[in-house]
Amino acid sequence: MHYSFIIPVYNEESTLPELVRRLTELADRLDAPCEFLFVDDGSSDRTLPLLRQTHTQDPRFCYLSFARNFGHQLAVTAGLNHVSGDVITVLDGDLQDPPELVIEMIDQWRAGYQVVYAQRIKRHQEHWLKRFYAYLFYRLLKRLADVDIPTDTGDFCLMDRQVVDVFNAMPERNRYLRGLRAWIGFKQTAVQFERDSRFAGDRKYTFRKSFSLALNGLVSFSRVPLRLATYTGLLAGLFSLLMAGLVFYWRFFGAGNPLVGIAAIMIAVFFLGAVQLVSIGILGEYIGRIYEEVKGRPLYILSEVAGVEGVRSATQPTSTTEG
Ligand code: UDP
Ligand code: MG
Repeated sequence: MHYSFIIPVYNEESTLPELVRRLTELADRLDAPCEFLFVDDGSSDRTLPLLRQTHTQDPRFCYLSFARNFGHQLAVTAGLNHVSGDVITVLDGDLQDPPELVIEMIDQWRAGYQVVYAQRIKRHQEHWLKRFYAYLFYRLLKRLADVDIPTDTGDFCLMDRQVVDVFNAMPERNRYLRGLRAWIGFKQTAVQFERDSRFAGDRKYTFRKSFSLALNGLVSFSRVPLRLATYTGLLAGLFSLLMAGLVFYWRFFGAGNPLVGIAAIMIAVFFLGAVQLVSIGILGEYIGRIYEEVKGRPLYILSEVAGVEGVRSATQPTSTTEG
């Protein structure tokens, strides 16, 4: 039995030494051997050389390196595909997810839970705007999603091998991992924590990346947006029938015509135009995802691997430093 850790890193050179120190400390406190798998998401700074160096100093630290930046969700996916442990933890590489929490999570795993996810009860020093839209988004998602995705949880979690195998068997490309995790089921529980601020460096999730992650979550786990088009269409239809009735009444029984011709027409045209465009846009979101899925390209391309046994799938590395 051994523990595996998956740590996606993208330009984290300034955090890496401290992260390695904290993880080494954690390894000493655990009751079984550990494997730390870093996934370098196409970093352009000294992250990869640092990973190479760490691996030669301590072979428990191994890594995968992507041929370019594929994004955090795919980095975690690659990690899940390649770890060998019986208990697998996913945590961010910026020390916002305190590694020490794993000890508490392992207790829950021993108590029989296959998934132990970390739930933030507080976010330290994050921009109020980010906290605000995160707050709104998680509540919206909870209302709309087909599965019950717990609020304020990220990808920081501990999973049993059984769950990771299910993850690995899922072929979908638009991976909203925290949603998939809820979808899989099994016995799940939360461990609460206060989210630290970043140890060093800037956020690697740009607003664009967070927005697209959020959209992905909504579209992958809810068909409500599609229905929205139907509902507004029905509503607009009902409204125009009412108006037609009203005009008919005024023409034959009322005095004069209170509707100011051109203005009313313009409003109606613009309103319907907007409804149609938004509806097409929503359709496009879903169709675009179908297109992505049918292309069937590999999810990520590895350029370098160290310390990982039996690299699988269509993502064969072009060069391997070891094993
Ligand atoms: N990350 C990644 N690829 C990316 C963006 C981020 O692997 O394209 C990693 C990053 O190095 C960090 C984790 O994902 O370990 C979370 O990123 P970040 O701290 O920027 O997000 P936040 O915590 O602010 O949501
Ligand atoms: Mg972070």
